[in-house]
Amino acid sequence: MRILVTNDDGIYSPGLAALARAAANFGEVKIVAPDVEQSSMSHAITATRPLSYRSSPVDFDGIEAYRVNGTPSDCVALGTHLWSTTDLVVSGINLGYNLGNQLWHSGTLAAAKQAVLLGVRGIAFSTTVDQGEPNYPVIEKYIAECFHVLESEKDIRLININLPRNPAGIEWTNQSVRQYDARIVPGVDPMGRKLYWYNFIPLEAAEEGTDRWAVDHNLVSVTPLRLELTDNARLKELRKKVPL
Ligand code: MN
Repeated sequence: MRILVTNDDGIYSPGLAALARAAANFGEVKIVAPDVEQSSMSHAITATRPLSYRSSPVDFDGIEAYRVNGTPSDCVALGTHLWSTTDLVVSGINLGYNLGNQLWHSGTLAAAKQAVLLGVRGIAFSTTVDQGEPNYPVIEKYIAECFHVLESEKDIRLININLPRNPAGIEWTNQSVRQYDARIVPGVDPMGRKLYWYNFIPLEAAEEGTDRWAVDHNLVSVTPLRLELTDNARLKELRKKVPL
């Protein structure tokens, strides 16, 4: 299996090195990652200037690695172009969870989505940094377990995985869709000028069986996702109720 490893935290992230290490046990790995941090860039693509890649300044124990002057989605598009026989794209390990409505902003997940758009399977991995640096040997063990499960479930194309610091198990989950409170928090810079932070907090407790619920219970959350956004139940209803 040929595995392309990318992320949105950039080529220097220790999470990228950990994921490459874990992936190397399952196939031939190449790393193609953004040259600077691209967190919260979602599925942005670079359309107004050309992309280029260079060798990685980081040594990944001999794994071939490149940095790209673009977004996570750019890295997947360019990486799968240069390495056209890629079987799997893995993204992460993001330093910070990607749960619930955060999936709309996530660059980590967007890389996996871009892979699926290009016909390649995509998996996003994220972990928490709330209690300091992740415990990589522990979570790499769980990443290996996820790889094993997905090896036998080839029909699943797009997966979002979140790993607690010291997992007690693994669960299939759905995306929590409860509302969050996204707001702008004002502040001032050292010159006294106004500046603003984008911040969000979940408004309600997580629903049982969801991604947020799983990590709250110290379980690795494995969420199969799809790219179709159409609300098919509503569409059926509208076609009947409001014929156009
Ligand atoms: Mn990130």
